[in-house]
Amino acid sequence: MNKEKLKQKFYLKEQRFPPSQRIDDCFFTCKNYLLSIQPFDFLNKIKIKYNCPYAIKDNKNSPRVFAHTLHEPDRICVFEDLGKLYKKYLYGIMLHEFGHIIADHYFIDHSEDLANSIMKDFFHLTIKYSQDIFKIEFLNKRDEIKINKFKKGK
Ligand SMILES: [Zn+2]
Ligand SMILES: [Zn+2]
Repeated sequence: MNKEKLKQKFYLKEQRFPPSQRIDDCFFTCKNYLLSIQPFDFLNKIKIKYNCPYAIKDNKNSPRVFAHTLHEPDRICVFEDLGKLYKKYLYGIMLHEFGHIIADHYFIDHSEDLANSIMKDFFHLTIKYSQDIFKIEFLNKRDEIKINKFKKGK
């Protein structure tokens, strides 16, 4: 998988905010939205973990991988380049990871499909994959607007 091609297509051309700030904003926005729909208590315990060595290694081996869950309890481990992606991919990946945590709590199932179905069926958010070799999750525009209202300070 060609990392330069992936960067050209999915990375911001110009970074106005530090990656970690974009990740944190996205995380809180997603969490607030999810809580507004289903007030699952365990969502409040979830935190972002930076500098997980596996997240760094996974991205090195497969540049489409920016995050994982179920490594440490209640943590979404991220590789910081996640915060360099265009917004729809950043949100798609983040929500997909929340989907994994919810799937783990209720179904003890770790499939990729279930993580996305949970977002659809419980939270009315559609996550799709880019139609190319990279297959990166993204959130559709309408849902991006919907979720934007839950940004901190709005
Ligand atoms: Zn990890
Ligand atoms: Zn996944």
